[in-house]
Amino acid sequence: MKILYNGTVITLDPANPVIHRGVVVVDGDKIKELGTEELLAKYPDARRIDAQGGLIMPGLLNTHMHIYSAFARGMAIPNYDPRTFTDILKGLWWRLDKLLTPQDNYYSALVSGIEAIKNGSTTLIDHHASPNSVEGSLDELARAFSQLGLRTSLCYEVSDRDGLKIARAGIEENRRFARWCQQEKPQRLAASFGLHASFTLSDDTLKACAEAAGDTGFHVHTAEGIEDRDFNLQHFGLPVVKRLDKFGIWNPRSLAIHCVHIDQEEMELLRQRDVSVIHNPESNMGNAVGRADIDAMWEHGLRVGLGSDGYTTDMFEGMKVANLIHKHGEGDPRAASQVPEMAFANNIDIVCRHFGVPTGRLLPDWQADVIIVQYKPYTALTADNWWFHLLMGVSGGMVRTVLVDGNILMEDRELLTVDEEKVYAQARIQAESVWKRL
Ligand SMILES: [Zn+2]
Repeated sequence: MKILYNGTVITLDPANPVIHRGVVVVDGDKIKELGTEELLAKYPDARRIDAQGGLIMPGLLNTHMHIYSAFARGMAIPNYDPRTFTDILKGLWWRLDKLLTPQDNYYSALVSGIEAIKNGSTTLIDHHASPNSVEGSLDELARAFSQLGLRTSLCYEVSDRDGLKIARAGIEENRRFARWCQQEKPQRLAASFGLHASFTLSDDTLKACAEAAGDTGFHVHTAEGIEDRDFNLQHFGLPVVKRLDKFGIWNPRSLAIHCVHIDQEEMELLRQRDVSVIHNPESNMGNAVGRADIDAMWEHGLRVGLGSDGYTTDMFEGMKVANLIHKHGEGDPRAASQVPEMAFANNIDIVCRHFGVPTGRLLPDWQADVIIVQYKPYTALTADNWWFHLLMGVSGGMVRTVLVDGNILMEDRELLTVDEEKVYAQARIQAESVWKRL
Protein backbone atom coordinates (compact mmCIF):
# COMPACT_ATOMS: atom_id res chain seq x y z
CA MET A 1 0.00 0.00 0.00
CA LYS A 2 1.19 3.54 -0.76
CA ILE A 3 0.06 6.91 0.52
CA LEU A 4 0.73 10.22 -1.23
CA TYR A 5 0.49 13.19 1.12
CA ASN A 6 1.58 16.76 1.87
CA GLY A 7 0.14 18.25 -1.30
CA THR A 8 -2.88 19.83 -2.94
CA VAL A 9 -4.87 17.11 -4.66
CA ILE A 10 -6.49 17.96 -7.99
CA THR A 11 -8.87 15.05 -8.52
CA LEU A 12 -10.54 15.92 -11.87
CA ASP A 13 -13.69 14.65 -10.15
CA PRO A 14 -16.18 17.45 -10.85
CA ALA A 15 -17.97 16.74 -7.56
CA ASN A 16 -14.85 17.35 -5.47
CA PRO A 17 -12.10 18.86 -7.66
CA VAL A 18 -9.59 20.06 -5.06
CA ILE A 19 -8.50 18.72 -1.66
CA HIS A 20 -6.12 20.93 0.30
CA ARG A 21 -3.57 19.07 2.44
CA GLY A 22 -4.91 16.06 0.63
CA VAL A 23 -4.00 12.40 0.75
CA VAL A 24 -4.34 9.67 -1.87
CA VAL A 25 -4.21 6.07 -0.70
CA VAL A 26 -3.14 3.46 -3.28
CA ASP A 27 -3.75 -0.25 -2.85
CA GLY A 28 -2.23 -2.44 -5.55
CA ASP A 29 -3.07 -0.95 -8.95
CA LYS A 30 -6.07 1.06 -7.72
CA ILE A 31 -6.88 4.13 -5.67
CA LYS A 32 -8.40 3.04 -2.39
CA GLU A 33 -9.33 6.27 -0.74
CA LEU A 34 -8.89 10.05 -0.84
CA GLY A 35 -9.09 12.44 2.04
CA THR A 36 -7.09 14.73 4.28
CA GLU A 37 -4.07 14.05 6.44
CA GLU A 38 -6.04 12.27 9.16
CA LEU A 39 -5.81 9.28 6.80
CA LEU A 40 -2.08 8.96 7.54
CA ALA A 41 -2.91 7.50 10.95
CA LYS A 42 -5.29 4.99 9.38
CA TYR A 43 -2.55 3.46 7.23
CA PRO A 44 0.58 3.50 9.41
CA ASP A 45 2.34 0.77 7.38
CA ALA A 46 1.76 2.27 3.92
CA ARG A 47 4.82 3.44 1.97
CA ARG A 48 4.73 7.25 2.29
CA ILE A 49 5.33 9.43 -0.76
CA ASP A 50 5.83 13.07 0.24
CA ALA A 51 4.54 15.59 -2.33
CA GLN A 52 6.50 18.34 -0.54
CA GLY A 53 3.70 20.85 -0.78
CA GLY A 54 3.18 20.35 -4.55
CA LEU A 55 0.25 19.06 -6.57
CA ILE A 56 -0.99 15.47 -6.55
CA MET A 57 -3.05 14.88 -9.69
CA PRO A 58 -3.94 12.25 -12.29
CA GLY A 59 -1.33 11.46 -14.95
CA LEU A 60 -1.95 13.16 -18.29
CA LEU A 61 -3.32 11.33 -21.32
CA ASN A 62 -1.97 11.70 -24.85
CA THR A 63 -4.51 10.36 -27.33
CA HIS A 64 -2.43 10.68 -30.51
CA MET A 65 1.32 10.07 -30.57
CA HIS A 66 4.03 8.88 -33.01
CA ILE A 67 6.95 7.33 -31.21
CA TYR A 68 8.55 6.53 -34.59
CA SER A 69 9.32 10.23 -34.99
CA ALA A 70 11.81 10.20 -32.08
CA PHE A 71 15.02 10.13 -34.12
CA ALA A 72 13.94 13.02 -36.34
CA ARG A 73 15.00 15.39 -33.58
CA GLY A 74 17.90 17.43 -34.97
CA MET A 75 18.23 15.29 -38.09
CA ALA A 76 19.70 17.14 -41.09
CA ILE A 77 17.89 16.25 -44.32
CA PRO A 78 19.69 17.11 -47.56
CA ASN A 79 17.66 19.36 -49.89
CA TYR A 80 14.70 19.50 -47.52
CA ASP A 81 12.78 22.71 -48.20
CA PRO A 82 9.09 21.87 -47.75
CA ARG A 83 6.46 24.25 -49.11
CA THR A 84 3.39 22.09 -48.50
CA PHE A 85 2.20 19.43 -46.08
CA THR A 86 2.80 16.79 -48.77
CA ASP A 87 6.40 18.03 -49.05
CA ILE A 88 6.80 17.49 -45.29
CA LEU A 89 5.41 13.96 -45.52
CA LYS A 90 7.50 12.99 -48.53
CA GLY A 91 10.65 14.85 -47.54
CA LEU A 92 10.76 13.90 -43.85
CA TRP A 93 8.34 11.34 -42.44
CA TRP A 94 8.12 8.95 -45.39
CA ARG A 95 11.91 8.93 -45.58
CA LEU A 96 12.51 8.42 -41.87
CA ASP A 97 9.93 5.65 -41.39
CA LYS A 98 11.50 3.48 -44.14
CA LEU A 99 14.83 3.47 -42.31
CA LEU A 100 13.58 2.09 -39.02
CA THR A 101 14.69 -1.38 -37.95
CA PRO A 102 13.16 -3.39 -35.08
CA GLN A 103 15.95 -2.13 -32.82
CA ASP A 104 15.28 1.50 -33.87
CA ASN A 105 11.59 1.01 -33.09
CA TYR A 106 12.40 -0.36 -29.66
CA TYR A 107 14.71 2.54 -28.73
CA SER A 108 12.35 5.15 -30.23
CA ALA A 109 9.68 3.79 -27.91
CA LEU A 110 11.97 3.77 -24.88
CA VAL A 111 13.17 7.37 -25.28
CA SER A 112 9.69 8.66 -26.12
CA GLY A 113 8.28 6.80 -23.16
CA ILE A 114 10.95 8.16 -20.82
CA GLU A 115 10.17 11.70 -21.95
CA ALA A 116 6.46 11.08 -21.56
CA ILE A 117 6.98 9.92 -17.97
CA LYS A 118 9.25 12.88 -17.20
CA ASN A 119 6.51 15.20 -18.48
CA GLY A 120 3.75 13.53 -16.48
CA SER A 121 1.96 11.47 -19.14
CA THR A 122 0.80 8.05 -17.99
CA THR A 123 -1.16 6.93 -21.06
CA LEU A 124 -0.23 7.12 -24.75
CA ILE A 125 -2.22 6.10 -27.80
CA ASP A 126 0.39 5.60 -30.51
CA HIS A 127 0.20 5.39 -34.32
CA HIS A 128 3.25 3.60 -35.71
CA ALA A 129 5.03 3.35 -39.10
CA SER A 130 8.16 1.44 -40.09
CA PRO A 131 7.40 0.09 -43.60
CA ASN A 132 10.58 -1.94 -43.93
CA SER A 133 10.10 -3.68 -40.60
CA VAL A 134 6.36 -4.02 -40.18
CA GLU A 135 6.09 -7.53 -38.86
CA GLY A 136 6.55 -7.63 -35.11
CA SER A 137 7.02 -3.85 -34.87
CA LEU A 138 4.17 -3.50 -32.39
CA ASP A 139 5.79 -6.20 -30.24
CA GLU A 140 8.97 -4.11 -30.08
CA LEU A 141 6.99 -1.09 -28.91
CA ALA A 142 4.99 -3.21 -26.46
CA ARG A 143 8.22 -4.60 -25.02
CA ALA A 144 9.61 -1.09 -24.45
CA PHE A 145 6.42 0.29 -22.91
CA SER A 146 5.98 -2.76 -20.70
CA GLN A 147 9.51 -2.28 -19.37
CA LEU A 148 8.76 1.38 -18.66
CA GLY A 149 5.38 0.53 -17.09
CA LEU A 150 3.37 3.02 -19.19
CA ARG A 151 -0.22 2.46 -20.30
CA THR A 152 -0.11 2.32 -24.10
CA SER A 153 -2.36 1.56 -27.04
CA LEU A 154 -0.61 0.55 -30.26
CA CYS A 155 -1.46 0.25 -33.94
CA TYR A 156 0.34 0.14 -37.29
CA GLU A 157 -0.64 2.79 -39.87
CA VAL A 158 -1.67 0.84 -43.00
CA SER A 159 -0.95 2.67 -46.24
CA ASP A 160 -0.64 1.89 -49.95
CA ARG A 161 2.16 4.42 -50.30
CA ASP A 162 4.85 1.72 -50.15
CA GLY A 163 3.09 -0.89 -52.29
CA LEU A 164 0.64 -3.71 -51.81
CA LYS A 165 2.98 -6.07 -49.98
CA ILE A 166 3.72 -3.58 -47.21
CA ALA A 167 0.04 -2.58 -46.99
CA ARG A 168 -0.88 -6.24 -46.47
CA ALA A 169 1.86 -6.62 -43.86
CA GLY A 170 0.40 -3.61 -42.02
CA ILE A 171 -3.08 -5.15 -42.02
CA GLU A 172 -1.68 -8.40 -40.65
CA GLU A 173 0.35 -6.60 -37.98
CA ASN A 174 -2.75 -4.77 -36.70
CA ARG A 175 -4.85 -7.92 -36.81
CA ARG A 176 -2.23 -10.06 -35.08
CA PHE A 177 -1.48 -7.56 -32.32
CA ALA A 178 -5.18 -6.80 -31.63
CA ARG A 179 -5.95 -10.51 -31.42
CA TRP A 180 -3.00 -11.03 -29.06
CA CYS A 181 -4.28 -8.21 -26.82
CA GLN A 182 -7.75 -9.75 -26.83
CA GLN A 183 -6.50 -13.21 -25.95
CA GLU A 184 -3.65 -12.44 -23.57
CA LYS A 185 -5.06 -9.28 -21.98
CA PRO A 186 -1.54 -7.92 -21.35
CA GLN A 187 -1.36 -5.42 -18.53
CA ARG A 188 -1.60 -1.78 -19.61
CA LEU A 189 -1.58 -2.59 -23.35
CA ALA A 190 -4.40 -2.12 -25.84
CA ALA A 191 -4.77 -2.04 -29.62
CA SER A 192 -6.50 -0.03 -32.28
CA PHE A 193 -6.44 -0.62 -36.04
CA GLY A 194 -4.18 1.96 -37.68
CA LEU A 195 -4.78 3.57 -41.06
CA HIS A 196 -2.44 6.23 -42.36
CA ALA A 197 -4.92 8.51 -44.12
CA SER A 198 -7.65 8.22 -46.72
CA PHE A 199 -5.48 9.73 -49.48
CA THR A 200 -2.93 6.90 -49.28
CA LEU A 201 -5.48 4.09 -49.10
CA SER A 202 -7.22 2.40 -52.03
CA ASP A 203 -10.78 1.08 -51.85
CA ASP A 204 -9.45 -2.48 -51.91
CA THR A 205 -7.12 -1.88 -48.98
CA LEU A 206 -9.83 -0.14 -46.96
CA LYS A 207 -12.14 -3.09 -47.60
CA ALA A 208 -9.44 -5.50 -46.42
CA CYS A 209 -8.83 -3.39 -43.30
CA ALA A 210 -12.53 -3.34 -42.43
CA GLU A 211 -12.68 -7.13 -42.76
CA ALA A 212 -9.55 -7.67 -40.67
CA ALA A 213 -10.43 -5.24 -37.89
CA GLY A 214 -13.40 -7.05 -36.34
CA ASP A 215 -14.70 -4.86 -33.53
CA THR A 216 -11.42 -2.95 -33.04
CA GLY A 217 -11.63 0.84 -33.29
CA PHE A 218 -9.74 2.55 -36.12
CA HIS A 219 -7.09 5.24 -35.64
CA VAL A 220 -6.75 7.39 -38.76
CA HIS A 221 -5.43 10.80 -39.82
CA THR A 222 -8.53 12.55 -41.12
CA ALA A 223 -8.36 15.62 -43.36
CA GLU A 224 -5.21 16.86 -41.67
CA GLY A 225 -4.16 18.88 -44.71
CA ILE A 226 -6.41 20.24 -47.45
CA GLU A 227 -4.64 17.74 -49.76
CA ASP A 228 -6.53 14.86 -48.14
CA ARG A 229 -9.93 16.48 -48.74
CA ASP A 230 -9.07 17.54 -52.31
CA PHE A 231 -7.72 14.10 -53.25
CA ASN A 232 -10.81 12.28 -51.99
CA LEU A 233 -13.21 14.71 -53.64
CA GLN A 234 -11.31 14.48 -56.91
CA HIS A 235 -10.85 10.70 -57.04
CA PHE A 236 -13.86 9.39 -55.15
CA GLY A 237 -16.34 12.25 -55.25
CA LEU A 238 -16.58 12.24 -51.46
CA PRO A 239 -14.94 14.19 -48.63
CA VAL A 240 -12.73 12.14 -46.29
CA VAL A 241 -15.19 11.28 -43.51
CA LYS A 242 -17.89 10.19 -45.96
CA ARG A 243 -15.52 8.08 -47.99
CA LEU A 244 -14.21 6.26 -44.92
CA ASP A 245 -17.77 5.76 -43.71
CA LYS A 246 -18.48 3.64 -46.79
CA PHE A 247 -16.08 1.04 -45.39
CA GLY A 248 -17.41 1.03 -41.83
CA ILE A 249 -14.34 2.76 -40.41
CA TRP A 250 -16.31 4.84 -37.90
CA ASN A 251 -17.39 3.27 -34.63
CA PRO A 252 -17.48 4.44 -30.99
CA ARG A 253 -13.87 3.33 -30.42
CA SER A 254 -12.54 4.98 -33.60
CA LEU A 255 -10.30 8.03 -33.46
CA ALA A 256 -10.50 10.63 -36.23
CA ILE A 257 -7.23 12.51 -35.93
CA HIS A 258 -7.01 16.26 -36.76
CA CYS A 259 -10.22 16.87 -38.80
CA VAL A 260 -8.90 20.29 -39.84
CA HIS A 261 -10.64 20.17 -43.23
CA ILE A 262 -14.03 18.57 -42.62
CA ASP A 263 -17.40 20.17 -43.28
CA GLN A 264 -20.58 20.38 -41.22
CA GLU A 265 -22.05 17.21 -42.73
CA GLU A 266 -18.91 15.26 -41.91
CA MET A 267 -19.05 16.53 -38.33
CA GLU A 268 -22.63 15.37 -38.09
CA LEU A 269 -21.69 11.94 -39.44
CA LEU A 270 -18.87 11.57 -36.90
CA ARG A 271 -21.28 12.49 -34.12
CA GLN A 272 -23.85 9.96 -35.33
CA ARG A 273 -21.18 7.25 -35.35
CA ASP A 274 -20.03 8.33 -31.84
CA VAL A 275 -16.43 8.78 -33.07
CA SER A 276 -13.83 10.73 -31.07
CA VAL A 277 -11.93 13.53 -32.80
CA ILE A 278 -8.37 14.18 -31.63
CA HIS A 279 -7.11 17.74 -31.84
CA ASN A 280 -3.35 18.28 -32.21
CA PRO A 281 -2.90 22.06 -32.31
CA GLU A 282 0.88 22.20 -31.96
CA SER A 283 1.38 19.85 -34.89
CA ASN A 284 -1.22 21.67 -36.99
CA MET A 285 0.61 24.95 -36.43
CA GLY A 286 4.01 23.38 -37.16
CA ASN A 287 2.84 21.82 -40.41
CA ALA A 288 0.87 24.95 -41.30
CA VAL A 289 -2.16 22.84 -42.25
CA GLY A 290 -4.75 25.15 -40.72
CA ARG A 291 -6.83 25.30 -37.56
CA ALA A 292 -9.59 22.83 -36.69
CA ASP A 293 -13.03 24.42 -36.19
CA ILE A 294 -13.42 23.47 -32.55
CA ASP A 295 -16.45 25.71 -32.02
CA ALA A 296 -18.36 23.99 -34.82
CA MET A 297 -17.37 20.56 -33.49
CA TRP A 298 -18.73 21.56 -30.09
CA GLU A 299 -21.96 22.77 -31.63
CA HIS A 300 -22.33 19.36 -33.28
CA GLY A 301 -21.78 17.69 -29.92
CA LEU A 302 -18.57 15.95 -30.99
CA ARG A 303 -16.26 14.45 -28.39
CA VAL A 304 -12.89 16.13 -29.05
CA GLY A 305 -9.75 15.01 -27.21
CA LEU A 306 -6.21 16.35 -27.21
CA GLY A 307 -3.09 14.65 -28.59
CA SER A 308 0.45 15.72 -29.43
CA ASP A 309 1.01 14.01 -32.82
CA GLY A 310 4.60 13.37 -31.80
CA TYR A 311 5.36 17.09 -31.62
CA THR A 312 5.91 16.94 -27.88
CA THR A 313 5.61 14.52 -25.00
CA ASP A 314 4.59 17.39 -22.70
CA MET A 315 0.81 17.57 -22.60
CA PHE A 316 0.96 20.68 -20.39
CA GLU A 317 2.62 22.33 -23.40
CA GLY A 318 -0.11 20.90 -25.66
CA MET A 319 -2.78 22.51 -23.51
CA LYS A 320 -1.03 25.89 -23.63
CA VAL A 321 -0.80 25.77 -27.42
CA ALA A 322 -4.43 24.65 -27.73
CA ASN A 323 -5.40 27.64 -25.61
CA LEU A 324 -3.43 30.07 -27.77
CA ILE A 325 -4.10 28.82 -31.31
CA HIS A 326 -7.84 29.49 -31.11
CA LYS A 327 -7.56 32.83 -29.33
CA HIS A 328 -5.04 33.95 -31.92
CA GLY A 329 -6.93 32.45 -34.86
CA GLU A 330 -10.32 33.83 -33.85
CA GLY A 331 -8.90 37.18 -32.81
CA ASP A 332 -10.98 36.68 -29.68
CA PRO A 333 -9.53 36.23 -26.17
CA ARG A 334 -12.66 34.33 -25.14
CA ALA A 335 -11.94 31.50 -27.60
CA ALA A 336 -10.59 28.06 -26.58
CA SER A 337 -12.76 27.74 -23.46
CA GLN A 338 -13.17 24.06 -24.41
CA VAL A 339 -9.51 23.14 -23.81
CA PRO A 340 -9.87 21.82 -20.23
CA GLU A 341 -12.81 19.67 -21.32
CA MET A 342 -10.72 18.33 -24.22
CA ALA A 343 -7.58 17.59 -22.22
CA PHE A 344 -9.38 16.13 -19.25
CA ALA A 345 -13.06 15.09 -19.53
CA ASN A 346 -12.91 13.98 -23.17
CA ASN A 347 -9.45 12.43 -23.07
CA ILE A 348 -10.53 10.50 -19.99
CA ASP A 349 -13.66 9.25 -21.76
CA ILE A 350 -11.61 8.26 -24.84
CA VAL A 351 -8.93 6.43 -22.86
CA CYS A 352 -11.46 4.62 -20.65
CA ARG A 353 -13.31 3.38 -23.78
CA HIS A 354 -10.02 2.31 -25.25
CA PHE A 355 -8.48 0.41 -22.36
CA GLY A 356 -11.65 -0.69 -20.61
CA VAL A 357 -10.34 0.51 -17.25
CA PRO A 358 -11.06 3.81 -15.48
CA THR A 359 -8.08 6.14 -15.51
CA GLY A 360 -7.55 9.90 -15.56
CA ARG A 361 -9.35 10.86 -12.35
CA LEU A 362 -8.40 10.38 -8.72
CA LEU A 363 -11.39 8.46 -7.40
CA PRO A 364 -11.74 5.26 -5.37
CA ASP A 365 -11.45 2.13 -7.54
CA TRP A 366 -9.92 4.05 -10.45
CA GLN A 367 -6.47 3.01 -11.67
CA ALA A 368 -3.68 4.55 -9.60
CA ASP A 369 -2.12 6.63 -12.40
CA VAL A 370 -0.92 9.60 -10.36
CA ILE A 371 1.70 12.32 -10.71
CA ILE A 372 3.28 14.76 -8.27
CA VAL A 373 4.10 18.22 -9.64
CA GLN A 374 6.49 20.58 -7.90
CA TYR A 375 4.20 23.59 -8.03
CA LYS A 376 3.45 25.81 -5.05
CA PRO A 377 1.01 28.51 -6.13
CA TYR A 378 1.50 32.06 -4.90
CA THR A 379 -2.22 32.77 -5.42
CA ALA A 380 -5.16 30.78 -4.07
CA LEU A 381 -5.83 27.50 -5.87
CA THR A 382 -9.51 26.63 -5.62
CA ALA A 383 -12.18 24.31 -7.02
CA ASP A 384 -13.02 27.08 -9.53
CA ASN A 385 -9.58 28.05 -10.77
CA TRP A 386 -7.35 24.92 -10.71
CA TRP A 387 -7.35 24.87 -14.52
CA PHE A 388 -5.77 28.32 -14.76
CA HIS A 389 -3.00 27.22 -12.40
CA LEU A 390 -2.24 24.25 -14.66
CA LEU A 391 -2.44 26.42 -17.77
CA MET A 392 -0.32 29.33 -16.59
CA GLY A 393 1.86 27.87 -13.85
CA VAL A 394 2.79 24.28 -14.68
CA SER A 395 4.99 22.65 -17.30
CA GLY A 396 6.09 19.06 -17.79
CA GLY A 397 9.56 19.57 -16.34
CA MET A 398 7.96 20.26 -12.95
CA VAL A 399 6.68 16.68 -12.68
CA ARG A 400 8.68 14.90 -9.97
CA THR A 401 7.02 11.55 -9.38
CA VAL A 402 4.87 9.29 -11.56
CA LEU A 403 2.83 6.21 -10.70
CA VAL A 404 1.01 3.98 -13.19
CA ASP A 405 -1.17 1.17 -11.86
CA GLY A 406 0.28 1.97 -8.44
CA ASN A 407 3.85 1.23 -9.62
CA ILE A 408 6.34 4.06 -9.13
CA LEU A 409 7.90 4.73 -12.56
CA MET A 410 9.75 7.88 -11.52
CA GLU A 411 10.48 9.24 -8.06
CA ASP A 412 12.01 12.69 -7.52
CA ARG A 413 12.91 12.81 -11.27
CA GLU A 414 14.71 9.44 -11.16
CA LEU A 415 13.44 6.72 -13.49
CA LEU A 416 13.01 3.50 -11.55
CA THR A 417 11.96 1.02 -14.23
CA VAL A 418 14.84 1.48 -16.70
CA ASP A 419 18.40 2.80 -16.61
CA GLU A 420 17.92 6.16 -18.31
CA GLU A 421 21.62 6.76 -19.00
CA LYS A 422 22.08 3.36 -20.63
CA VAL A 423 18.94 3.74 -22.77
CA TYR A 424 20.00 7.20 -23.95
CA ALA A 425 23.54 6.02 -24.75
CA GLN A 426 22.18 3.20 -26.94
CA ALA A 427 19.51 5.48 -28.47
CA ARG A 428 22.23 7.89 -29.61
CA ILE A 429 23.99 5.01 -31.37
CA GLN A 430 20.71 3.97 -33.03
CA ALA A 431 19.95 7.56 -34.07
CA GLU A 432 23.41 8.04 -35.55
CA SER A 433 22.95 4.90 -37.57
CA VAL A 434 19.53 6.04 -38.83
CA TRP A 435 20.91 9.43 -39.82
CA LYS A 436 23.76 7.79 -41.75
CA ARG A 437 21.26 5.73 -43.72
CA LEU A 438 19.19 8.77 -44.70
ZN1 LIG B 1 -0.37 11.86 -36.51
